[in-house]
Amino acid sequence: MIRNVELFERACRTIPGGVNSPVRAFRSVGGTPPFIERANGAYVWDADQKQYIDYVGSWGPAILGHAHPEVVKAVQEAAVNGLSFGAPTEAEIELAELLVHRLPSIEQVRLVSSGTEATMSAIRLARGYTGRAKIIKFEGCYHGHADSLLVKAGSGLLTFGNPTSAGVPPEFTAHTLVLDYNDVAGVEAAFEKYGDEIACVIVEPVAGNMNLVQPVPGFLQALRDQCTRFGAVLIFDEVMTGFRVGPQGVQGRTGIVPDLTTLAKVIGGGMPIGAFGGRRDIMAHIAPLGGVYQAGTLSGNPVAVAAGLTTLRLIGQPGFYERLEAQTGKLVAGLRAAAASAGVAFSADHVGGMFGLYFRDAVPASLAEVSAGDTAAFNKFFHAALARGVNFAPSAFEAGFVSIAHDDDIIARTVAVAGEAFAELNP
Ligand code: PMP
Repeated sequence: MIRNVELFERACRTIPGGVNSPVRAFRSVGGTPPFIERANGAYVWDADQKQYIDYVGSWGPAILGHAHPEVVKAVQEAAVNGLSFGAPTEAEIELAELLVHRLPSIEQVRLVSSGTEATMSAIRLARGYTGRAKIIKFEGCYHGHADSLLVKAGSGLLTFGNPTSAGVPPEFTAHTLVLDYNDVAGVEAAFEKYGDEIACVIVEPVAGNMNLVQPVPGFLQALRDQCTRFGAVLIFDEVMTGFRVGPQGVQGRTGIVPDLTTLAKVIGGGMPIGAFGGRRDIMAHIAPLGGVYQAGTLSGNPVAVAAGLTTLRLIGQPGFYERLEAQTGKLVAGLRAAAASAGVAFSADHVGGMFGLYFRDAVPASLAEVSAGDTAAFNKFFHAALARGVNFAPSAFEAGFVSIAHDDDIIARTVAVAGEAFAELNP
């Protein structure tokens, strides 16, 4: 850890907290984050040349494993032809066509450069389309860092939210209703009270930002029904789940069709990209066709599009998701068994290539239940695993990601390490 520590101290002098995105700083688990020098397949190496089996996967994009040779080649070839034009290209049509083809709910799509831009723009579009101001989001879902989304539930039932970040005036969150995930009655009550003022509901259809939390049966259908009944736009934020939980995201797994979908992460194969798309009649309200403004200097960036296109082609091969889900299932089953034999209160869940680890007896269904887990035990487990060369997400409130490069041997080694880590919790 010598060089990592030096680098962290050096980083802290010029970069706030030493990181360019807060969860990287290890604030919740404590200690110094490894500085990554390179990554390949299921592995990352830090500045001290220590190798880790990686379950962060750049927080989702690395579904093929890191630095897949075909993706790297596509990026190199695109780069030679110019890094950015600020003008339309054929490759971005191909990416749009591929997204429209793979996700039936998307009739038109606009590319942006991050998930935050995608959700921010989708919400503006929903408001412009409906002419309404209010939006519904759910406690524990993260949709990027746009002002009106950095919000927690207000003090009373069905009151508008309070900012969770300094620098966000309460007026900016005054139109955001924050409800409990999986609470159908709460959604119905909100629509009963404010139905004709609600522009949209935005939801992570499988939540991955409060650890992994699945929707209970009927929850997503209730959102669909209420939005249809009251003329609100249903936005599935599939930035994390899109092409991660299956070939058509959560919408493919459940058959529930959103009006708009936001994407990022996997569709960029590790390069900065995001997208929002959906019904043609709604997308027609975006500039230059309509009055809802949205733009980006680097939108549809040719290098990012090349990485995304190649990634999407590779994951479109037959059997890809069956194998990804099987590997994730083996990991989760192995971890459960290891915890049980160490006598640690533990549960785990997975959907496609994403998983959740919980230091509690039962899989949680809400932020409150996730928060009731034993965070201190997680933090100890995390460091015991990290020291042994397994890199889980550095927070009890994050999901984990398996790539197609995580073979049986890698998973068996992970489970062996986890066994030792669980044993440390219960000596
Ligand atoms: N929505 C969801 C569901 C996410 O998981 C994230 C990022 N983790 C975002 C939006 C924001 O994406 P980005 O970090 O690319 O801005």
